[in-house]
Amino acid sequence: MDISYMSSGGKLNPLQAIMDVRHYTLALDVDITKQSISGYTEIDIILLQKTDTILFDLVHFLIVNKINVNKRNSNFFQKGDHIFITNSNGYPPGKHKIKIEYSGKPPVAVKPPWKGGFTWTKDSNGNPWVAINCQLEGGKVYFPCKDHPSDEPNEGADLFITVPAGLTVAGPGLLQNISKPKNNKQTFHWKTNYTISNYCILFNIAKYKIYNRIYTTINGNRVPMQFYVLEADTAYAAHVLDLRERDCKILEKYFGEYPWIKEKMGIVYVPNPGMEHQTMISYGDRFTYKKVNGQDYSDNLYHEFGHEWWANKVTNKDWAHMWIQEGIDTYAEALFFREVAGEVAYDSIINIFKRHIANKKPLVQGEEINSADTYTGDIYVKGAFFMHTLRYVVGDSIFFTTLKKLATDEKYTYNNFVTTDDVEKLFSQQSGTDLKPLFYFYLRTIQILDISVLNKGFNEYEVQFKNLPMNLPVDILTDDGTQHLIITKKSLKIKSSFPPVIDPGSHYLKKILTE
Ligand SMILES: [Zn+2]
Repeated sequence: MDISYMSSGGKLNPLQAIMDVRHYTLALDVDITKQSISGYTEIDIILLQKTDTILFDLVHFLIVNKINVNKRNSNFFQKGDHIFITNSNGYPPGKHKIKIEYSGKPPVAVKPPWKGGFTWTKDSNGNPWVAINCQLEGGKVYFPCKDHPSDEPNEGADLFITVPAGLTVAGPGLLQNISKPKNNKQTFHWKTNYTISNYCILFNIAKYKIYNRIYTTINGNRVPMQFYVLEADTAYAAHVLDLRERDCKILEKYFGEYPWIKEKMGIVYVPNPGMEHQTMISYGDRFTYKKVNGQDYSDNLYHEFGHEWWANKVTNKDWAHMWIQEGIDTYAEALFFREVAGEVAYDSIINIFKRHIANKKPLVQGEEINSADTYTGDIYVKGAFFMHTLRYVVGDSIFFTTLKKLATDEKYTYNNFVTTDDVEKLFSQQSGTDLKPLFYFYLRTIQILDISVLNKGFNEYEVQFKNLPMNLPVDILTDDGTQHLIITKKSLKIKSSFPPVIDPGSHYLKKILTE
């Protein structure tokens, strides 16, 4: 069941480029003993032009038994991880409803959430515990879909998940119904009306106990908070909800109101590190915390929750631009430190990010790059450090209002997607400065500022900026203290009795040669 070859996104197949997914319905019976699933996925699409073939993605381990298009039996074949649905007369443009019946054993996760699939395990009381993760492989690990980040179902998704009676299913959106037990099984109907990434359309199963609370957002809306926790861990639940409330207030301050006010703020406990599953963020860090200025902090809880804004609400159009989701969300962690412990704490976490930057390949390698080719640690840490650089270059007032605009403006959120150029254009426009050279330098190349400090004698130094991408502000520390200069040319003379310290606050990725 090896799916290590598998990735998500990349070059959009022409057969999928003519299709707009509107809605997914998943109805699956989960056989925990056999570790298999059976049922159907119904996909509502709009075809933009006539085609004789409709293409979906589905892992080849799962066998399709029957396909109906608009309630009529259709020809199809599976090849690799694709389903080709064919009609020699062609499917006309417009709306179509495709029902795909299938069954089989979905792939087992090797290292969730990074190497995904299903996790079949038991809790400490011996009850079944099932988790799904598929960010880097896509929803096709267990349901037929158009596996590309650029197409989310605009009208949401319905999940009808049947499990042994006594177990609970945690899913996206709002729980509509739990069926009465029949043959010792129950069906949970979860429904989200929001647009959602295919890797977030999933569920977890366990003997959960549910803790409820109401959260009042920054705009005064009341949203149900729900924590699906194992019975053995109920003693930890209230504190997790306390932390979620505090974290939400910080994230709302910087990025605007919690994005899913019509549904819920969910947390589900899973047997792996957490994941940004929309409205049901998973968490698995064993209730361990760091102390930040005397307060408990879990980067796992906070980071995954930050993705409700950066990934779920603001979504990259393609994995080529994944740094927007991971880098800005990682930067949000530094903003937690700024809020709770001040600028020095912010700087210290930024410096930790900086030390982890590998800088082996550019964060953005082009367009339509798949998840496997894009995914590196740098999309987190170099992406976050780039936001730190941007903050310095445009100044706090423009930086924070622009970042909030990116997270709240309709143009960049929900049904719309973002690319690196969208982020650049917004910051350029808001700052009145063409920032394209800076974005290009740090995001599309592995260059860093190359600076030489040459001793010219008589307390004079020449500072050379060998690859300055554009006019940039730089702090320089000399006998006279720290001067804030705008560097416009490749070389400048500085008076100092000691070698001037360039960028003492560490706002840029750079190398400095002092001679
Ligand atoms: Zn993340």
